Amino acid sequence: MKHLLDIETADEGFLNQVLESAEVFLKVLQQPSKKLPTLRGKTVLMMFMEPSTRTQASFELAAKRLSADTVSFSPGRSSMRKGETFLDTLYNLHAMGIDGVVIRHSSPGAAHFVAEHTDAAVINAGDGAHEHPTQALLDAFTVKRKLGRLEGLTVLIVGDVLHSRVARSNLFLWRKFGSRVLFSGPPTLLPKEFATWGAELVDLNEVLHEVDVLMILRLQRERMEGSLVPSVREYRRFWGLTRDRLKRLPERTLLMHPGPVNWGVELDPEANDRPNTVILEQVRNGVAVRMAVLYHLLAKTEEIG
Ligand code: ASP
Repeated sequence: MKHLLDIETADEGFLNQVLESAEVFLKVLQQPSKKLPTLRGKTVLMMFMEPSTRTQASFELAAKRLSADTVSFSPGRSSMRKGETFLDTLYNLHAMGIDGVVIRHSSPGAAHFVAEHTDAAVINAGDGAHEHPTQALLDAFTVKRKLGRLEGLTVLIVGDVLHSRVARSNLFLWRKFGSRVLFSGPPTLLPKEFATWGAELVDLNEVLHEVDVLMILRLQRERMEGSLVPSVREYRRFWGLTRDRLKRLPERTLLMHPGPVNWGVELDPEANDRPNTVILEQVRNGVAVRMAVLYHLLAKTEEIG
């Protein structure tokens, strides 16, 4: 594969290779030196056109741990403020010699657009409500390390599915690996067509006891037009993972959240008291998974070392 634009069309062999190599890179990250020469001489452009903490830092670290040079671009401090178009900006940055582009953008399809206009390897770091492939990969990697497999699991995703690229990428990924995906959330944030993509729409309270993996989504207030939920309090009452619901969650169930968490809205802080809450492990594993993606797209013939 030349690019990683989405999970829906991604090659399953590629996804497996990434998950396997991530295990090697995680070991590298546990060594005192943490660094490999694999991408020495390569340059990766980080285009983050929408706010990001984890994903941006994680990609930057991943590229640096592989010895690539990185150039960071943020629209607020660029010539886009002087009216330069997105495409002109891209062509100009590309002219400086870029091997890879990591792009985060609020418009669905932005990564595909970049891939059509550059010969660099493009990685989608989240495009609007469309997809966030490396998040789904790091989620899968975390589950595989904890539960030892990716197939035959029941994965429940709760919340604002409508606006969630994380939910979409995870749905495609778990279906590819042969696991069952359940969605639960307010009807206004859970369109019926998701069922046609292979997800089952369920009542959260009825399935809590039987899930292997529970992913809580952030209530995405920045993508909401109109009033899709009556109030934050109501949302918490019906779909939040409150202290009471946490008590009903089996100890073995992995509890995940892609971050940032609205504590006290979709998830109560008591979640941190259970051993199988793996939110920070997801973040830690994210660096290794992104190293693996960069390695497979940019190093190609070279050995991990
Ligand atoms: N950090 C994730 C994303 O960028 C999830 C979220 O923002 O809710 O999609």
